[in-house]
Amino acid sequence: MKLKRRGFPGGFNRFRLMLTLGLAVVLPAAALIYVNFRQLRAFERDKVLEAAIHRDFQEMLYITEKKFTKKAYTMTEEVRNLFPSPDDEPLEKEKKLGMVLEKSPWLTHVFLSDEKSFLLQTQPKQMGDQYIRQEHDRMAASYKGWFGMEGKTMVGKMHKKTRPIDFYTGPAKRSNGEAYVLNALFVIPHVSKDRVVIGGASFDSCYLESAFFKGILDEELTQKMTDQGGNPLAMMIYPAEMDMGYQIKPLAATSGWGEGKPEVARKFDDVFRGLALGIKYQGTSIKELGATWVHRSFLILGFLSLMIVGGLVLTKHVVSKEMALARLKSDFVSNVSHELRTPLALIRLYAETLELGRITTQDKKQQYYRIIRKESERLTALINNILDFSRIEAGRKEYEFRNTDIAELVRNTLESYRYQIEQQGFAFEESIDANLPAVPVDREAIARALVNLVNNALKYSADEKFLGVKLYREDSMVKLEVADHGIGIARRDQSKIFEKFYRAGDPLVHNTKGSGLGLSLVRHITLAHGGEIAVESTPGRGSKFILSLPLVSATGRPAHGAA
Ligand code: ADP
Repeated sequence: MKLKRRGFPGGFNRFRLMLTLGLAVVLPAAALIYVNFRQLRAFERDKVLEAAIHRDFQEMLYITEKKFTKKAYTMTEEVRNLFPSPDDEPLEKEKKLGMVLEKSPWLTHVFLSDEKSFLLQTQPKQMGDQYIRQEHDRMAASYKGWFGMEGKTMVGKMHKKTRPIDFYTGPAKRSNGEAYVLNALFVIPHVSKDRVVIGGASFDSCYLESAFFKGILDEELTQKMTDQGGNPLAMMIYPAEMDMGYQIKPLAATSGWGEGKPEVARKFDDVFRGLALGIKYQGTSIKELGATWVHRSFLILGFLSLMIVGGLVLTKHVVSKEMALARLKSDFVSNVSHELRTPLALIRLYAETLELGRITTQDKKQQYYRIIRKESERLTALINNILDFSRIEAGRKEYEFRNTDIAELVRNTLESYRYQIEQQGFAFEESIDANLPAVPVDREAIARALVNLVNNALKYSADEKFLGVKLYREDSMVKLEVADHGIGIARRDQSKIFEKFYRAGDPLVHNTKGSGLGLSLVRHITLAHGGEIAVESTPGRGSKFILSLPLVSATGRPAHGAA
């Protein structure tokens, strides 16, 4: 009946704990892990990261094209504003065109065509290139006729635009190989709209490739890297028709391009029609990055899941331990109350019997007095244990170390127990080394430790009643052994019995009243002396507790110091 009442709440609490852990922690954690896992799988399947990078690249290319266009317009606008008026004197016009070339070294040709004349000038420094010379002659020969036929339509179209500039591009030959040129045609500012006057400028192909294109590409990449960091990018510009499977040869590229095809490309229209802009990662691809990212995310998820599971196991462990401690505490209260009640009841019974005066023989009286004394001693020991324990728990326990003749201390302590030991039918063996040096100890504490060990030996012995106490020196230690031939302690309990409130699960232990405090006090006392406590035990054969004390105190005071 009693067992049931005690057992049920423990089991119930455990069940409730499991339920709470399960519902409040395990389920959400499992759901979280599962959802994340599914999401990652979907990411992997739908190539979400790859698509996002693609979009990002497209946007970069779009912005870069805008910059190219803007710069080409601005530069042409500047040239256009320097152009002479068609109504200037012929010499004046030539001079002004010459100045335009001088001010804009990045131009190859400039020309001005009006109703009467066609003026063409080429950068003098570039005339050394025979291809440029040929180009000059071709333009001089053909442009007049061209503007004569189509000039009116061209001017009409240009006037309709916000910026009256037309660009056309194409490959050209230069002495250092194939090149790419950009030509601008425009109407001259402040010239009436009905007049057929056309100005023009050709951008130098070297300037375009090494300064214009490369400048903007480099600038874009630097900007992107400072803004976002991450994997290094590379961009390049190439003739758009190469996209159709030719080996791509860039016109201009940022330093890290290396070779190969762009991941994302954009064909220019407007100014640079015919060219395309490409972008890729240096040394890796979008696909590879996507795969690495997914892989890494799976690893992180796996690691986090492990941590969650570890955390749960740890929580369960800690909570179970706390619950076990709570259970031990409640057992402790009932055990202690019982322990207090038994000696008190005996004392009262014998005192009342004596008071009634019914006991006549002196011997009997003497026996009753002795019982009363013994029981009050037991009570004192128990109360001392509890008081010591509460002092230890509150961190207020203090020890007073004095050099002590430990042999005498042990002999005296045992002497006051001898009667009880023999009364209970124990064979008592005592072996105390006579030549021990003085040891710095707290007398009361060591006596209490010994009493606790002896009491346990008496309590936990069943059939074979034996108590052996030994005191001897071993190296720099004094050892105190208390041995019995009692019920012994299971191996798994041996490390736990020194914990507060812990009592082994043996039925004999449960039928013997105890508080579970004794050994925890013994351990505390021993450690405070700088010593150690050990147990050797075989279930059914008996136990031996060995308390070792150093000859020099924990505070470093020598054994043979002050008295
Ligand atoms: P208590 O004896 O009051 O239960 P202790 O702290 O003195 O508390 O001992 C803790 C437990 O260790 C005991 O409940 C018992 O299970 C075990 N124990 C201690 N001494 C012995 C011994 N000599 N033989 C067998 N078991 C022992």
